[in-house]
Amino acid sequence: MFERNGGYDVLKYADVAEPKAGPNDVVIKVKASACNFNDIWARRGLPGMKIILPHISGSDAAGVVVETGSEVKHVKVGDEVVVHCGISCRECYYCTRGEEYFCSDFKIWGFQTGPFDGAHGEYCKVPAVNTLPKPPNLSFEEAATMPLVLVTVWRMLVSRAHIQAGDFVLVWGAAGGLGVMAIQIAKLYNARAIAVASSADKLELCGRLGAEFLLDRKKHDIFQEVRKITGSRRADIVFEHTGADTWPISMQCLKWGGTLVTCGATSGFDAHLDIRLLWNKQQNYLGSHLGNKGELIEAMRFVASGDIKPVVGKVLPLKELATAQDLMETNTIAGKIAIVPPGA
Ligand SMILES: [Zn+2]
Repeated sequence: MFERNGGYDVLKYADVAEPKAGPNDVVIKVKASACNFNDIWARRGLPGMKIILPHISGSDAAGVVVETGSEVKHVKVGDEVVVHCGISCRECYYCTRGEEYFCSDFKIWGFQTGPFDGAHGEYCKVPAVNTLPKPPNLSFEEAATMPLVLVTVWRMLVSRAHIQAGDFVLVWGAAGGLGVMAIQIAKLYNARAIAVASSADKLELCGRLGAEFLLDRKKHDIFQEVRKITGSRRADIVFEHTGADTWPISMQCLKWGGTLVTCGATSGFDAHLDIRLLWNKQQNYLGSHLGNKGELIEAMRFVASGDIKPVVGKVLPLKELATAQDLMETNTIAGKIAIVPPGA
């Protein structure tokens, strides 16, 4: 937890009261949680975003239900579950259209302000509607790393960019938590992933996951390589989440009529767009934010079948959350970092 925004030094390992389930909630004994960049944004503080302090981060968890609220019907004590981190009212115009991310009450669990503390603890509380069965073929550590990145990438590539067989998909940060999902979803659709990562080890992982082309961003001229790979046509889809650093190259690499889809900007928020190119090339620039629970349910079928696999690069005890965040910020680990609380 942290009581003020700042660097790693504000993270405290402390005892807090156990959560009690409200009528529509469940309490979960956390077997594992997972790290996301949200944890870091929340700790640092973002301009314009109010973070209620003290704050317990964590938007991904897997565990066992230990308490259910009086109105909860479909989740039972003892159920092994994972959590969908999009919390919304479930009643408004947007929610009833399956567009929960547009709900005026929408919150990312463990990130934004709200009545629920996040996943990085021994217990957590979430609305029962936000739970899904844990895929039985995964360990708790593996399962905890899946929901946020999986639903985000599924929505980006499947719902937003309408990925198709044969598409060349340029994947930035391909060995990261989002990237490893993008490669596998591209493969699932018989699309052709062009993976960009920063080391030979990471690219080897990308290749094992099904990326057809492997580019080292420290060695290759990404634009020239993409031209070569695609026979000058360039990429059908550019999968963006890095932002300012990669945006100009992403624009260059996108084919006429192609689709750039982005869900974040860890390297900076400001990018230039030449509007003449936008209309002449008839390109699609799409934003995407998380996804709805239905999209996560769709995607999880392919986790249960083994077509989409978790990539857990590191497992650390809860006490070492600061180390985990440092490994994430320095881009050291391929795949995801799982966190295990004491007694899990
Ligand atoms: Zn709503």
